[in-house]
Order: sequence, then structure tokens, then C-alpha cells
Amino acid sequence: MADTPTYTKFISNLSELYSPQSIVQINSAFEFAKMAHTNQKRLSGEDFITHPLEVALTLSSWKLDTDSIIAGLLHDTIEDGGAKREDLVNMFGEPVALLVDGVTNISKIHLKGSEEDQFVENLRKMLLVMAKDLRVILVKLADRLHNMETLSFLPPQKQREKSRETLDIYAPLAERLGIGKVKGKLEDLSFEHALPEEYIWIKKYSDPFIKSSELNMEKVKRNLLLSLTKNNVTKLTVNARTKHLYSLYMKLLRPEFNRDITKIHDLTALRVIVDNIEDCYSALGVVHKQYRPVPYLGIRDFIANPKPNGYRSIHTNVFGPEGNIIEVQIRTTQMHTEAEMGVAAHWQYSDTKSKGASDQSLEKGLIVSDQKLSWVKQLVSWQSEITDSQEFLNALKFDALQHRNLVFSPKGDVYDLPKGATPIDFAFLVHSDIGNKAIGAKVNGKMVSLNYKLNNGDVVEVLVDKNRKKPSRDWLDFVVTSSARRQLSKSLKD
Ligand code: MN
Repeated sequence: MADTPTYTKFISNLSELYSPQSIVQINSAFEFAKMAHTNQKRLSGEDFITHPLEVALTLSSWKLDTDSIIAGLLHDTIEDGGAKREDLVNMFGEPVALLVDGVTNISKIHLKGSEEDQFVENLRKMLLVMAKDLRVILVKLADRLHNMETLSFLPPQKQREKSRETLDIYAPLAERLGIGKVKGKLEDLSFEHALPEEYIWIKKYSDPFIKSSELNMEKVKRNLLLSLTKNNVTKLTVNARTKHLYSLYMKLLRPEFNRDITKIHDLTALRVIVDNIEDCYSALGVVHKQYRPVPYLGIRDFIANPKPNGYRSIHTNVFGPEGNIIEVQIRTTQMHTEAEMGVAAHWQYSDTKSKGASDQSLEKGLIVSDQKLSWVKQLVSWQSEITDSQEFLNALKFDALQHRNLVFSPKGDVYDLPKGATPIDFAFLVHSDIGNKAIGAKVNGKMVSLNYKLNNGDVVEVLVDKNRKKPSRDWLDFVVTSSARRQLSKSLKD
């Protein structure tokens, strides 16, 4: 094991980024996992430990914090290995155990093969688990990625199921969170099994176009590099990227393309990565001076107007040397990292350390984490999109999600409430003391009345008066949850 390429790469990733102290902890997690999975094999015939090791390797390449790496190594030790939760807590601490719990809970939620109303309910449960800690999703995505990479060892039926689930849930989730890198990989790994005929078709059809486009791109890349440097755009990289097969396929299905690949201009695209935002616009000028922009396709400035998932970049289409159309994407290094890693970028090891804010103080809510709120809100809006889509709604006899809202504390903790619930329902859900002593509420930073009807994604802050003796009897007129009603009646009687 110690001399496999994966292990070597893992150790070298670690020594580059992590403190000696972290490496000691990570190593003992590796030894722990090896013990727990003794004599277990993957369907590939390899030792089981190769799987958690690959997961941890992926997490270290995403530069995630030490607890995430450890959770990656341990994520199957309780469920599939012989480990006990209390041993995990004793050796690696409660936060790691909670991460492992989260990953295990998500794995237990089977989205495919369940009845449609159950599907939605399960999806909701999954969102609740994930919303508690982003790192759970990241470990789960790394886990899914390796399982998809080793899918060929599964029976065909299982391959199709896993692939569909990946296309329906995990890839859109990665996209929602802006983790473009993972989304593309997951989709391409699933495509072949979920839609085998279409996969063969697109592979054959696109191959010659992609090859010639890549060749052409090399020339443009050299020319642009030269003129950008001449124009003092410094610290720059120019590279060509080829479109992922599945996203090419989905694009071709759109009516305006009608399966005609000659209408698609970003088969390969050039990425110009520069130091700062000013340089992005200077680079745009240089590009347009050398290659004429295509009038009817225009420039899309996602720096001035970011996409809903936070994606920033300038896209422009220009006529290349052979008269063909080329897409050029211009962004800063920071934007590039965010485009590849999305919300995960904010959890990267070096970042967390240098920001000075300890994880504990973030967790305790001493510091309100905008990042945490924004990604949890991404999850909530994604959930509504899914329930809004015809596909699901048509089929649903009883739609669990339609009648519930997810709302947040200012710390980003997520709470599940029925439609029509008010800040008082929320207050009693958090703690009876908060309910009993409530005097006012803010929703999304603005004062609201206590009978205000909460909406999906609202951030609710309850203002309390420590000296308040009893709650108000009037509240019984508008609370909707039975638990708030019960706690109210009790406090009023006392
Ligand atoms: Mn696993």
C-alpha cells in the first residue's frame, strides 16, 4: 500500500500544504481505516482501503481542511468497516464523527427506485443533512466521483442506476454549488451508462470537429499570448479547454442547435487568466483588436453580472484566422479557482487558516458567515427548482416539499417549517426560552411583525427580552406548528 502511486501522490499533496501536526493526524486516520477495512475488497478486487484513500486524495487536491481529509479516510469505516462511532470520537474528535455521520446518512437516502413522493421527501432530508455542513457534500462528491470512476466493476443494472442518480442529483448539485470541475467529470462518467446509444453517437459525431478545433486553437493561443504580453497584460496564462461531452450533448439537444454541431462555437474555448479585473478588460480589448468580435453573438460579461451560482468571467466570440468562430473566456486567477471549485474554494485549507477566524467561532455563530448562508440558500433555491419542474410536479400525488419551507438562523442553521409558519413558530422550534421571551423578529435583516408568514430561504432572527415573564396569549391565534402551540399553552398556564 505504502508504495502505490495513489499513496505517494497523497503524501506529497499533504506535505505541500498541511502542517506536520495535521499530517500526523491524517496518517493515524489512514492506519485506522486500514484496520477497519482489513480483508475487505472492492468489486475491482483491490483492497478496500484504496477507495477511502482515493477519496482523501481528491479532497487533498481540493485543498480542503484537515477534518475533511480525515473524514474522507474514515467515511466508510462505521458503515462498511468494523469501527465504532465512539472510537472515532475519541481518536479524531466529535466534528470528524459528525462529518462521517453526515456522509453515511446521505448514502442511506436512496433517491432512485423510490416512489415519487418519497423521492421528494428523501431529497429534502438529504438537503437538510447537507445544509448543516458543506464539507459533508464535498466528501460525498469525492466519494461519488471515485465510485463512478470504478463503475465498470458493477453489474450493468447497477451502473445505469448509479449513473442516473448521478445525473439527476449529484451533478446538478455540484453545478448549483459552482463546482464546475466536479460537475463535468460526474456527467461524463455517467453519460456512457445512462444513455449508451446517445453517448456512442455524440462521440463519433463530434470527434473530427473537436480535433480540428483543438488544432486551430493552438495557433490562436500562440498569437494571443504574444499580443497580450506586448500590451503589458502580465502574469497571464492562456489555455484551451475542450467542452465536456455531456454538456455538448445537452447543448445540441436545444432547439436552436437541433443536433447540428457546426452551430456550436465553444467546442474548445480559450481561457485567458490574468491577475486582476482591470487586466480582464484590457485583455478583452487586445483580443478584439486582433480578432473581430462576432456581432450577433456578442460579449457576455459575467464579471459585471455574475451567474446565479456565482460564476464570473467575460465570454466573447471572435472570428479566428480561418474565419471560424472562437470563444474566448477571460477571468482572474481567483475567478478561475472559484469557477472550478465553487463554494469549496472558500473552505480551502490555506484560506481558512489565513482568514484568522477559527472554525469554532464560525460554528458558534460568533461570526456570521456569508459564505455559509449563500451556499445554503443555493441549496434551497435548487430544491424549489426541482419541485417547480413539470417533470416532478406532474407526477406527484402529494408534494411534501411544496408544503414546507426551509428557513435559517443568522448562523446559517437550517430549520424545517410548514408553510404559513411565523417567527414565533421558528422561535419555539429553536428553543422554548426564545419563544417565551420573544419581543420582535427580523427577517432577512428587516423588522417584521411576529405573525409574518415566513418564506423558503428566509433568514430569521428573533429578538428576545430576558426579563419577559410570559409569552402573549394572542400568539395562539397565528402559530401553525403544534409544538409552538403546545409550548405556548404550557407557558401561559404556569
Ligand atoms: Mn465510499
